[in-house]
Amino acid sequence: MSAPTPPRLRFAPSPTGYLHVGGARTALFNWLWARKTGGTFLLRTEDTDKARSTDESTAAIFRGLEWLGLDWDEDVVYQGANVARHKADAERLVENGSAYLDFTTVVELERLRADADARKEPFRFDRRLARWTPDEIAQKLAAGEPYTIRFRVPDGTTAWDDIVHGRISFDNKEIEDFIVLRSDGTPIYNLAVVSDDIAMRITIVMRGDDHISNTPKQILLYQALGAPLPQFAHVPMIHGTDGKKLSKRRDAAAVGDWEYKGILPTAMANFLALLGWSPGGDLEVMMPEEMLAHFSLERLHRKAAIFDTQKLEWMNGQHLSRRPLEEVLPRVTDALIRHEVATAERLAADPAWTAHLVDQLRVRARTIEEVVTQARPYLLDEIEYDDAAVAKALLKDRAASADILHATREALVNAPAWTAEALEPALRTLAESRGLTAGKIFTPLRVAVTGLAVSPGIFDVLTLIGRERSLERLARTLDMLATTT
Ligand code: GLU
Repeated sequence: MSAPTPPRLRFAPSPTGYLHVGGARTALFNWLWARKTGGTFLLRTEDTDKARSTDESTAAIFRGLEWLGLDWDEDVVYQGANVARHKADAERLVENGSAYLDFTTVVELERLRADADARKEPFRFDRRLARWTPDEIAQKLAAGEPYTIRFRVPDGTTAWDDIVHGRISFDNKEIEDFIVLRSDGTPIYNLAVVSDDIAMRITIVMRGDDHISNTPKQILLYQALGAPLPQFAHVPMIHGTDGKKLSKRRDAAAVGDWEYKGILPTAMANFLALLGWSPGGDLEVMMPEEMLAHFSLERLHRKAAIFDTQKLEWMNGQHLSRRPLEEVLPRVTDALIRHEVATAERLAADPAWTAHLVDQLRVRARTIEEVVTQARPYLLDEIEYDDAAVAKALLKDRAASADILHATREALVNAPAWTAEALEPALRTLAESRGLTAGKIFTPLRVAVTGLAVSPGIFDVLTLIGRERSLERLARTLDMLATTT
């Protein structure tokens, strides 16, 4: 028995905006399946709608895919470059009797549509309107009368076994004789897709389930063009937490928005993979190689997926801690520079210090923005004190706080060296001598030197901030406790 032929899949975005999270998710599923099976993942931009397609959008989509790590095989196919083939396919359909020329005028069609509206009936083109004799057709063509090419929908039913939904079947009576070629010679969407999918030898069409209603028309076109049918997999839509379709205006629906907000690409891909698929069990956090290992078409969902931004941030926190530091580091340093928390020179001056700082902070943050906020006390001379942290750790019992911080400062000043090994016994001895838990010493100290309630371990904090700045901040906090009311 010969090995099954590896599948050929494609992602076919219309370049009329940014890379939408729904599109990115669909691209990811196609990519995962191609990579997992040794198949081929192709990219096609559906740019036949010249009025709405832009080069910027095409570039943004490519960039978004690259950022997510979704590489494609072979050259990108630009649908607009294939219009001659689309037209030839439409003509082939006329020649083999599957389609016909329709000279019905726009005015006539408008009138028929208005009549149907008045009867509160859906408008469906009646092919009896297009019964011209060969002579009449020749005359009309000679006179240069405009015509469209319409597909002659046969009787019967059109059905397929959808990989996600199982058997789906449509009564052909529900499908009107649809146009495949406009009077200006440009193809209608369904023809262009089928013509290109045949030319690209696509074996699995995986796309959003908003395309289910196009599929019977496309199947009829494959059959009429004598081409083998691909398999179809219609993956679920993505809704917001309010249950409504994601909206570009209301939600951050562009992948680039999340990149800008400091989401790691592996976290985004992991999160997207779970919108319409699950590996089973409790497994959620997956690195790309784990997603590849687990991905299967059987576990694709039918029901709409929910885009929960809280979960995305949580997922990002997981990836921030687990990805290799060298992958996280440049993204954090870029953000630090962008937010003017540090200059590139400052960060490059002591790369080991910078790496250690980021390594300490990333395990406590969900987003790169949070790492930036937490990095401030280590990089800036002037720090901002978080009111809630100060109120809780220092102001509840002002005198006691001042007393502890004063003794802490003394112990630190007298420590033989400014290293974790020297500072730790100094503070633990102080705690013991006062009959206090270590936390009672560390918490006010943390707020005094960082201004924040959350930080790495206190000895990492002290060594990262350095002796001089730590002692100065302690002194200032003591002043503040003595003076403000
Ligand atoms: N261009 C279509 C879209 O963006 C995709 C069509 C398809 O995948 O067949 O929805």
